[in-house]
Amino acid sequence: MTQSLAILIALVGATSVSAQSNNDYAPPVIEVDGLRGIPIDIISVDTQMVFDFETQSVNVISDMNFKMIGEKGFPLFDLRQQITSAALNGIDIDVAQLAAHDFGKQTGTMRIIESECQMKVVNVLHLEYTLSTPSSPAAIDIKWDKAGMTFDTWYSDLNPGRYAEQWFPANLLYDQHPLNVDIKLVGAKTQHLMVTNGATTEVRKHEWQLRFPDSSTAFSHMIVIVPASEIDFLSKKGNVNGDKMRIDVYCRKDAPTSAQHVLNETAKSLREYSKSMGKWDHGDDCIVYVWKGSRSMEYDGATTTALGALDHEIFHSWFGRGVKPASQNDGWWDEAFNVYFADGRRPNRRVVEKEGKPVTLSSNNPYNRITPGASYSLGAVFFGRLAHLIGADNLHTHMSDFYNKYTGQVASTADMENFLVTASGNEEVRKLFARYVYGRDEK
Ligand SMILES: [Zn+2]
Repeated sequence: MTQSLAILIALVGATSVSAQSNNDYAPPVIEVDGLRGIPIDIISVDTQMVFDFETQSVNVISDMNFKMIGEKGFPLFDLRQQITSAALNGIDIDVAQLAAHDFGKQTGTMRIIESECQMKVVNVLHLEYTLSTPSSPAAIDIKWDKAGMTFDTWYSDLNPGRYAEQWFPANLLYDQHPLNVDIKLVGAKTQHLMVTNGATTEVRKHEWQLRFPDSSTAFSHMIVIVPASEIDFLSKKGNVNGDKMRIDVYCRKDAPTSAQHVLNETAKSLREYSKSMGKWDHGDDCIVYVWKGSRSMEYDGATTTALGALDHEIFHSWFGRGVKPASQNDGWWDEAFNVYFADGRRPNRRVVEKEGKPVTLSSNNPYNRITPGASYSLGAVFFGRLAHLIGADNLHTHMSDFYNKYTGQVASTADMENFLVTASGNEEVRKLFARYVYGRDEK
Protein backbone atom coordinates (compact mmCIF):
# COMPACT_ATOMS: atom_id res chain seq x y z
CA MET A 1 0.00 0.00 0.00
CA THR A 2 1.05 3.56 -0.03
CA GLN A 3 2.13 5.07 3.20
CA SER A 4 -0.63 6.78 5.10
CA LEU A 5 0.66 6.29 8.59
CA ALA A 6 4.15 6.14 10.04
CA ILE A 7 4.77 3.43 12.55
CA LEU A 8 8.09 3.50 14.29
CA ILE A 9 9.25 0.39 16.01
CA ALA A 10 12.72 -0.24 17.33
CA LEU A 11 13.87 -3.80 17.59
CA VAL A 12 17.05 -5.78 17.58
CA GLY A 13 17.35 -7.61 14.27
CA ALA A 14 18.05 -11.23 13.46
CA THR A 15 18.03 -13.30 10.32
CA SER A 16 15.65 -16.12 9.60
CA VAL A 17 16.65 -19.35 7.91
CA SER A 18 15.92 -19.77 4.22
CA ALA A 19 14.15 -22.96 3.25
CA GLN A 20 12.42 -24.99 0.54
CA SER A 21 9.04 -25.71 2.14
CA ASN A 22 6.67 -22.96 3.20
CA ASN A 23 6.32 -24.67 6.58
CA ASP A 24 9.97 -23.88 7.25
CA TYR A 25 8.98 -20.20 7.24
CA ALA A 26 6.42 -20.79 10.00
CA PRO A 27 7.20 -19.21 13.38
CA PRO A 28 8.18 -21.48 16.28
CA VAL A 29 5.68 -22.95 18.73
CA ILE A 30 4.59 -20.25 21.18
CA GLU A 31 3.23 -20.26 24.71
CA VAL A 32 0.52 -17.71 25.47
CA ASP A 33 -1.78 -17.63 28.53
CA GLY A 34 -0.40 -21.02 29.58
CA LEU A 35 -1.37 -22.62 26.26
CA ARG A 36 1.10 -24.08 23.78
CA GLY A 37 0.06 -22.83 20.32
CA ILE A 38 1.26 -24.83 17.30
CA PRO A 39 1.51 -23.26 13.81
CA ILE A 40 -0.56 -24.97 11.13
CA ASP A 41 -0.49 -25.54 7.38
CA ILE A 42 -3.88 -24.66 5.88
CA ILE A 43 -4.77 -26.96 2.97
CA SER A 44 -7.80 -24.88 1.94
CA VAL A 45 -10.51 -22.62 3.30
CA ASP A 46 -14.04 -23.07 1.91
CA THR A 47 -16.50 -20.31 2.70
CA GLN A 48 -20.11 -19.43 1.91
CA MET A 49 -21.30 -15.87 2.48
CA VAL A 50 -24.95 -14.86 2.21
CA PHE A 51 -25.65 -11.11 2.15
CA ASP A 52 -29.27 -10.54 3.22
CA PHE A 53 -30.41 -7.10 2.08
CA GLU A 54 -33.61 -7.14 4.09
CA THR A 55 -31.94 -7.67 7.46
CA GLN A 56 -28.63 -6.06 6.35
CA SER A 57 -26.76 -9.03 7.75
CA VAL A 58 -24.20 -11.44 6.35
CA ASN A 59 -24.17 -15.07 7.44
CA VAL A 60 -20.99 -17.05 6.91
CA ILE A 61 -20.10 -20.73 7.03
CA SER A 62 -16.41 -21.53 6.77
CA ASP A 63 -14.44 -24.78 6.76
CA MET A 64 -10.71 -24.59 7.41
CA ASN A 65 -8.85 -27.74 6.39
CA PHE A 66 -5.39 -27.91 7.94
CA LYS A 67 -2.43 -30.00 9.09
CA MET A 68 -0.23 -29.48 12.12
CA ILE A 69 3.36 -28.32 11.60
CA GLY A 70 6.09 -30.03 13.61
CA GLU A 71 4.07 -31.54 16.44
CA LYS A 72 0.56 -32.48 17.55
CA GLY A 73 -1.25 -30.13 19.91
CA PHE A 74 -3.31 -26.96 20.00
CA PRO A 75 -3.54 -25.28 16.56
CA LEU A 76 -3.01 -21.54 16.00
CA PHE A 77 -5.09 -19.50 13.57
CA ASP A 78 -6.87 -16.17 13.35
CA LEU A 79 -10.38 -14.88 12.65
CA ARG A 80 -11.58 -11.42 13.70
CA GLN A 81 -15.28 -12.27 13.85
CA GLN A 82 -17.54 -13.50 16.65
CA ILE A 83 -17.94 -17.21 16.10
CA THR A 84 -21.41 -18.47 16.98
CA SER A 85 -20.88 -22.19 16.51
CA ALA A 86 -17.99 -24.49 15.72
CA ALA A 87 -17.10 -28.12 15.13
CA LEU A 88 -13.67 -29.73 14.98
CA ASN A 89 -13.38 -32.89 12.88
CA GLY A 90 -17.16 -33.32 12.93
CA ILE A 91 -17.59 -32.89 16.69
CA ASP A 92 -19.13 -29.75 18.18
CA ILE A 93 -16.68 -27.63 20.13
CA ASP A 94 -17.45 -24.84 22.60
CA VAL A 95 -16.50 -21.49 21.02
CA ALA A 96 -14.73 -20.63 24.31
CA GLN A 97 -12.17 -23.27 23.26
CA LEU A 98 -11.29 -21.14 20.19
CA ALA A 99 -10.69 -17.93 22.12
CA ALA A 100 -8.44 -15.11 20.93
CA HIS A 101 -5.32 -14.52 23.03
CA ASP A 102 -3.19 -11.41 23.19
CA PHE A 103 0.23 -12.09 21.65
CA GLY A 104 1.54 -8.55 22.28
CA LYS A 105 1.51 -5.26 20.41
CA GLN A 106 3.26 -6.41 17.23
CA THR A 107 0.99 -9.43 16.75
CA GLY A 108 -2.35 -8.50 18.21
CA THR A 109 -4.53 -11.49 18.96
CA MET A 110 -4.54 -14.99 17.51
CA ARG A 111 -6.85 -17.87 18.30
CA ILE A 112 -5.70 -21.12 19.86
CA ILE A 113 -7.90 -24.20 19.43
CA GLU A 114 -7.91 -25.90 22.83
CA SER A 115 -8.28 -29.40 21.47
CA GLU A 116 -5.39 -31.63 20.53
CA CYS A 117 -4.98 -32.16 16.79
CA GLN A 118 -2.88 -34.98 15.40
CA MET A 119 0.01 -34.88 12.96
CA LYS A 120 -0.22 -36.11 9.34
CA VAL A 121 -4.01 -35.90 9.09
CA VAL A 122 -6.18 -33.18 7.63
CA ASN A 123 -8.22 -31.61 10.42
CA VAL A 124 -11.41 -29.70 9.64
CA LEU A 125 -12.56 -26.71 11.67
CA HIS A 126 -16.15 -25.79 10.80
CA LEU A 127 -17.23 -22.28 11.80
CA GLU A 128 -20.45 -20.31 11.61
CA TYR A 129 -20.74 -16.59 12.25
CA THR A 130 -22.61 -13.42 11.32
CA LEU A 131 -20.31 -10.69 10.03
CA SER A 132 -19.71 -7.62 12.15
CA THR A 133 -16.96 -5.01 11.90
CA PRO A 134 -13.78 -7.10 12.23
CA SER A 135 -12.10 -6.79 15.63
CA SER A 136 -8.93 -5.54 13.94
CA PRO A 137 -7.32 -2.10 14.33
CA ALA A 138 -8.95 0.55 12.10
CA ALA A 139 -11.21 -2.05 10.47
CA ILE A 140 -13.89 -0.84 8.05
CA ASP A 141 -17.47 -2.08 8.11
CA ILE A 142 -19.78 -3.13 5.29
CA LYS A 143 -21.75 -0.15 3.96
CA TRP A 144 -25.51 -0.40 3.40
CA ASP A 145 -27.31 2.56 1.86
CA LYS A 146 -29.94 3.54 -0.69
CA ALA A 147 -27.80 2.55 -3.66
CA GLY A 148 -27.24 -0.91 -2.20
CA MET A 149 -24.32 -2.49 -0.36
CA THR A 150 -20.55 -2.08 -0.54
CA PHE A 151 -18.24 -4.81 0.72
CA ASP A 152 -14.46 -4.60 0.47
CA THR A 153 -11.87 -7.00 1.91
CA TRP A 154 -9.96 -3.84 2.95
CA TYR A 155 -6.61 -5.50 3.59
CA SER A 156 -3.83 -3.42 5.17
CA ASP A 157 -0.14 -3.97 6.05
CA LEU A 158 0.02 -1.29 8.68
CA ASN A 159 -1.86 -3.00 11.50
CA PRO A 160 -1.97 -6.59 12.74
CA GLY A 161 -5.00 -8.68 11.83
CA ARG A 162 -6.01 -6.71 8.74
CA TYR A 163 -5.74 -9.45 6.09
CA ALA A 164 -8.06 -12.39 5.32
CA GLU A 165 -8.54 -13.05 9.06
CA GLN A 166 -10.93 -10.08 9.13
CA TRP A 167 -13.50 -12.19 7.26
CA PHE A 168 -12.28 -15.80 6.98
CA PRO A 169 -10.27 -18.20 9.16
CA ALA A 170 -6.67 -17.48 8.13
CA ASN A 171 -3.01 -18.02 8.84
CA LEU A 172 0.14 -15.90 8.92
CA LEU A 173 1.82 -14.95 5.63
CA TYR A 174 4.07 -18.01 5.21
CA ASP A 175 1.10 -20.20 4.32
CA GLN A 176 0.02 -20.44 0.65
CA HIS A 177 -3.29 -22.18 0.05
CA PRO A 178 -6.51 -21.94 -2.01
CA LEU A 179 -9.48 -19.98 -0.73
CA ASN A 180 -12.90 -20.79 -2.17
CA VAL A 181 -15.67 -18.30 -1.49
CA ASP A 182 -19.27 -18.68 -2.63
CA ILE A 183 -21.16 -15.41 -2.35
CA LYS A 184 -24.88 -14.81 -2.68
CA LEU A 185 -26.81 -11.53 -2.46
CA VAL A 186 -30.41 -12.08 -1.34
CA GLY A 187 -33.04 -9.38 -1.84
CA ALA A 188 -30.84 -6.81 -3.57
CA LYS A 189 -33.08 -4.24 -5.27
CA THR A 190 -30.34 -2.82 -7.47
CA GLN A 191 -27.66 -4.42 -9.61
CA HIS A 192 -24.31 -5.12 -7.92
CA LEU A 193 -20.92 -5.86 -9.42
CA MET A 194 -18.36 -8.39 -8.23
CA VAL A 195 -14.84 -6.94 -8.48
CA THR A 196 -12.30 -9.62 -7.68
CA ASN A 197 -8.98 -11.17 -8.61
CA GLY A 198 -10.37 -14.64 -7.88
CA ALA A 199 -11.39 -16.86 -10.79
CA THR A 200 -15.12 -16.19 -10.95
CA THR A 201 -18.12 -18.20 -12.02
CA GLU A 202 -21.40 -16.33 -12.02
CA VAL A 203 -23.83 -19.11 -11.14
CA ARG A 204 -26.84 -16.82 -11.52
CA LYS A 205 -27.52 -13.16 -10.94
CA HIS A 206 -25.89 -11.99 -7.70
CA GLU A 207 -24.41 -15.41 -7.02
CA TRP A 208 -20.72 -16.00 -7.59
CA GLN A 209 -18.14 -18.70 -6.94
CA LEU A 210 -14.68 -17.24 -6.37
CA ARG A 211 -11.61 -19.48 -6.53
CA PHE A 212 -8.27 -18.13 -5.32
CA PRO A 213 -5.25 -20.24 -6.33
CA ASP A 214 -2.82 -22.19 -4.17
CA SER A 215 -0.26 -19.39 -4.47
CA SER A 216 -2.55 -17.16 -2.38
CA THR A 217 -1.59 -16.07 1.12
CA ALA A 218 -3.63 -14.12 3.69
CA PHE A 219 -3.08 -10.82 1.84
CA SER A 220 -3.91 -11.94 -1.71
CA HIS A 221 -7.67 -11.65 -2.09
CA MET A 222 -9.40 -8.63 -3.53
CA ILE A 223 -13.17 -8.92 -3.16
CA VAL A 224 -15.24 -5.79 -3.69
CA ILE A 225 -19.01 -5.88 -4.14
CA VAL A 226 -20.46 -2.56 -5.18
CA PRO A 227 -23.67 -1.09 -6.60
CA ALA A 228 -23.29 -1.01 -10.41
CA SER A 229 -24.74 2.52 -10.48
CA GLU A 230 -21.56 3.85 -8.81
CA ILE A 231 -19.12 2.43 -11.34
CA ASP A 232 -17.85 3.04 -14.87
CA PHE A 233 -16.60 -0.29 -16.16
CA LEU A 234 -14.19 -0.77 -19.03
CA SER A 235 -12.54 -4.01 -20.15
CA LYS A 236 -10.00 -4.31 -22.89
CA LYS A 237 -7.91 -7.12 -24.31
CA GLY A 238 -4.52 -6.28 -25.66
CA ASN A 239 -0.93 -7.24 -26.08
CA VAL A 240 1.60 -6.64 -23.32
CA ASN A 241 5.09 -7.33 -24.62
CA GLY A 242 3.91 -10.37 -26.57
CA ASP A 243 1.48 -11.69 -23.97
CA LYS A 244 -2.27 -11.46 -24.44
CA MET A 245 -3.84 -9.72 -21.47
CA ARG A 246 -7.12 -8.26 -20.36
CA ILE A 247 -7.40 -5.17 -18.22
CA ASP A 248 -10.63 -4.66 -16.27
CA VAL A 249 -11.12 -1.15 -14.93
CA TYR A 250 -13.79 -0.34 -12.37
CA CYS A 251 -13.69 3.41 -11.96
CA ARG A 252 -15.89 4.91 -9.27
CA LYS A 253 -17.98 7.73 -10.71
CA ASP A 254 -16.82 10.05 -7.91
CA ALA A 255 -13.12 9.42 -8.71
CA PRO A 256 -11.40 12.41 -10.32
CA THR A 257 -10.50 10.52 -13.52
CA SER A 258 -12.03 8.41 -16.28
CA ALA A 259 -12.04 4.66 -16.83
CA GLN A 260 -10.27 5.23 -20.17
CA HIS A 261 -7.45 7.16 -18.52
CA VAL A 262 -7.05 4.46 -15.84
CA LEU A 263 -6.93 1.80 -18.56
CA ASN A 264 -4.24 3.68 -20.49
CA GLU A 265 -2.13 4.22 -17.37
CA THR A 266 -2.52 0.57 -16.29
CA ALA A 267 -1.41 -0.63 -19.74
CA LYS A 268 1.63 1.64 -19.53
CA SER A 269 2.69 0.26 -16.13
CA LEU A 270 2.11 -3.35 -17.24
CA ARG A 271 4.28 -2.85 -20.33
CA GLU A 272 7.01 -1.13 -18.38
CA TYR A 273 7.35 -3.68 -15.57
CA SER A 274 6.89 -6.80 -17.66
CA LYS A 275 9.86 -5.48 -19.62
CA SER A 276 12.02 -4.30 -16.74
CA MET A 277 11.24 -7.01 -14.15
CA GLY A 278 9.84 -10.11 -15.86
CA LYS A 279 6.63 -11.76 -16.91
CA TRP A 280 3.30 -10.90 -15.28
CA ASP A 281 2.51 -13.88 -13.03
CA HIS A 282 -1.23 -13.50 -12.36
CA GLY A 283 -2.94 -15.22 -15.27
CA ASP A 284 -4.02 -13.13 -18.23
CA ASP A 285 -5.93 -10.39 -16.47
CA CYS A 286 -5.31 -7.35 -14.30
CA ILE A 287 -8.14 -5.88 -12.22
CA VAL A 288 -8.09 -2.24 -11.18
CA TYR A 289 -10.61 -0.48 -8.96
CA VAL A 290 -10.08 3.28 -8.69
CA TRP A 291 -11.66 5.62 -6.15
CA LYS A 292 -11.19 9.12 -4.85
CA GLY A 293 -9.14 9.76 -1.72
CA SER A 294 -5.66 8.59 -0.87
CA ARG A 295 -6.00 5.03 0.38
CA SER A 296 -4.56 2.32 -1.87
CA MET A 297 -3.94 -1.41 -1.54
CA GLU A 298 -2.26 -4.06 -3.65
CA TYR A 299 -3.56 -7.58 -4.25
CA ASP A 300 -2.33 -10.43 -6.45
CA GLY A 301 -2.70 -9.03 -9.97
CA ALA A 302 -5.12 -6.38 -8.80
CA THR A 303 -5.50 -3.19 -6.81
CA THR A 304 -7.99 -0.89 -5.13
CA THR A 305 -6.32 2.46 -5.54
CA ALA A 306 -6.26 6.21 -5.87
CA LEU A 307 -5.16 7.30 -9.35
CA GLY A 308 -1.94 8.80 -7.98
CA ALA A 309 -0.81 5.45 -6.54
CA LEU A 310 -1.87 3.30 -9.52
CA ASP A 311 1.64 2.70 -10.87
CA HIS A 312 2.99 1.91 -7.39
CA GLU A 313 0.18 -0.58 -6.77
CA ILE A 314 0.60 -2.26 -10.16
CA PHE A 315 4.32 -2.72 -9.44
CA HIS A 316 3.34 -4.61 -6.27
CA SER A 317 2.01 -7.37 -8.54
CA TRP A 318 5.73 -7.98 -9.19
CA PHE A 319 7.20 -7.15 -5.77
CA GLY A 320 4.87 -7.94 -2.87
CA ARG A 321 2.19 -10.02 -4.60
CA GLY A 322 4.26 -11.75 -7.33
CA VAL A 323 7.15 -12.64 -5.09
CA LYS A 324 5.53 -12.41 -1.66
CA PRO A 325 7.10 -11.62 1.70
CA ALA A 326 7.30 -14.84 3.76
CA SER A 327 6.41 -12.99 6.95
CA GLN A 328 5.63 -9.47 8.02
CA ASN A 329 9.35 -9.14 8.90
CA ASP A 330 9.88 -9.34 5.13
CA GLY A 331 7.09 -6.89 4.29
CA TRP A 332 9.63 -4.01 4.28
CA TRP A 333 11.32 -5.02 1.02
CA ASP A 334 8.32 -4.80 -1.26
CA GLU A 335 7.59 -1.24 -0.12
CA ALA A 336 11.26 -0.22 -0.01
CA PHE A 337 12.06 -1.53 -3.48
CA ASN A 338 8.78 -0.19 -4.88
CA VAL A 339 9.52 3.33 -3.63
CA TYR A 340 13.12 3.09 -4.89
CA PHE A 341 12.40 1.52 -8.28
CA ALA A 342 8.81 2.25 -9.34
CA ASP A 343 8.29 5.57 -7.57
CA GLY A 344 11.79 6.54 -8.67
CA ARG A 345 12.76 7.97 -5.33
CA ARG A 346 16.49 7.26 -5.59
CA PRO A 347 18.38 8.82 -2.70
CA ASN A 348 21.13 11.18 -3.77
CA ARG A 349 24.80 10.32 -3.60
CA ARG A 350 25.47 12.45 -0.54
CA VAL A 351 22.97 10.43 1.49
CA VAL A 352 24.21 6.98 0.53
CA GLU A 353 27.91 7.78 0.84
CA LYS A 354 27.56 8.81 4.46
CA GLU A 355 27.12 6.23 7.22
CA GLY A 356 23.63 6.42 8.68
CA LYS A 357 22.11 5.24 11.95
CA PRO A 358 21.18 1.56 12.24
CA VAL A 359 17.60 0.91 11.09
CA THR A 360 15.39 -2.07 11.92
CA LEU A 361 13.12 -2.86 9.01
CA SER A 362 13.07 -6.62 9.67
CA SER A 363 12.32 -7.41 13.32
CA ASN A 364 13.39 -10.52 15.20
CA ASN A 365 9.85 -11.23 16.44
CA PRO A 366 8.63 -14.12 14.23
CA TYR A 367 5.04 -13.21 15.15
CA ASN A 368 5.36 -9.56 14.07
CA ARG A 369 2.42 -8.47 11.86
CA ILE A 370 3.26 -4.84 11.14
CA THR A 371 5.25 -3.46 8.21
CA PRO A 372 7.30 -0.58 9.67
CA GLY A 373 6.55 2.86 8.24
CA ALA A 374 10.30 3.41 7.74
CA SER A 375 10.20 0.76 4.96
CA TYR A 376 9.02 3.46 2.54
CA SER A 377 11.62 6.08 3.43
CA LEU A 378 14.72 4.49 4.96
CA GLY A 379 14.00 1.25 3.08
CA ALA A 380 14.32 3.12 -0.22
CA VAL A 381 17.59 4.65 1.08
CA PHE A 382 18.79 1.09 1.80
CA PHE A 383 18.29 0.14 -1.87
CA GLY A 384 20.10 3.37 -2.78
CA ARG A 385 23.03 2.22 -0.65
CA LEU A 386 22.98 -1.18 -2.36
CA ALA A 387 22.98 0.52 -5.77
CA HIS A 388 25.92 2.66 -4.68
CA LEU A 389 27.81 -0.46 -3.56
CA ILE A 390 27.18 -2.83 -6.48
CA GLY A 391 25.96 -0.47 -9.24
CA ALA A 392 22.38 0.57 -9.99
CA ASP A 393 22.15 -1.49 -13.20
CA ASN A 394 23.50 -4.58 -11.45
CA LEU A 395 21.01 -4.14 -8.62
CA HIS A 396 18.20 -3.87 -11.16
CA THR A 397 19.34 -7.06 -12.93
CA HIS A 398 19.71 -8.99 -9.67
CA MET A 399 16.29 -7.89 -8.40
CA SER A 400 14.72 -8.92 -11.69
CA ASP A 401 16.46 -12.31 -11.38
CA PHE A 402 15.24 -12.55 -7.78
CA TYR A 403 11.69 -11.86 -8.96
CA ASN A 404 11.95 -14.48 -11.69
CA LYS A 405 13.28 -17.09 -9.26
CA TYR A 406 10.69 -16.50 -6.53
CA THR A 407 7.54 -15.26 -8.24
CA GLY A 408 4.47 -17.24 -7.16
CA GLN A 409 6.29 -18.12 -3.95
CA VAL A 410 7.17 -16.50 -0.66
CA ALA A 411 10.68 -15.23 0.09
CA SER A 412 12.29 -14.00 3.29
CA THR A 413 14.71 -11.16 3.93
CA ALA A 414 17.46 -13.78 4.32
CA ASP A 415 16.55 -15.23 0.90
CA MET A 416 16.98 -11.78 -0.64
CA GLU A 417 20.22 -11.10 1.25
CA ASN A 418 21.74 -14.44 0.23
CA PHE A 419 20.57 -14.01 -3.36
CA LEU A 420 22.10 -10.54 -3.67
CA VAL A 421 25.38 -11.61 -2.04
CA THR A 422 25.72 -14.54 -4.45
CA ALA A 423 24.58 -12.61 -7.52
CA SER A 424 26.86 -9.64 -6.86
CA GLY A 425 29.75 -11.69 -5.44
CA ASN A 426 30.10 -8.90 -2.90
CA GLU A 427 30.12 -9.86 0.81
CA GLU A 428 29.85 -6.17 1.76
CA VAL A 429 26.13 -6.51 0.90
CA ARG A 430 25.74 -8.35 4.24
CA LYS A 431 27.04 -5.32 6.14
CA LEU A 432 24.35 -3.13 4.59
CA PHE A 433 21.67 -5.66 5.54
CA ALA A 434 23.08 -5.90 9.10
CA ARG A 435 23.01 -2.15 9.73
CA TYR A 436 20.11 -0.87 7.62
CA VAL A 437 17.71 -3.83 7.64
CA TYR A 438 18.37 -5.72 10.88
CA GLY A 439 19.38 -2.60 12.81
CA ARG A 440 22.67 -3.95 14.16
CA ASP A 441 25.23 -1.39 15.23
CA GLU A 442 28.38 -3.29 14.41
CA LYS A 443 31.61 -2.18 12.79
ZN1 LIG B 1 3.11 -0.04 -1.45
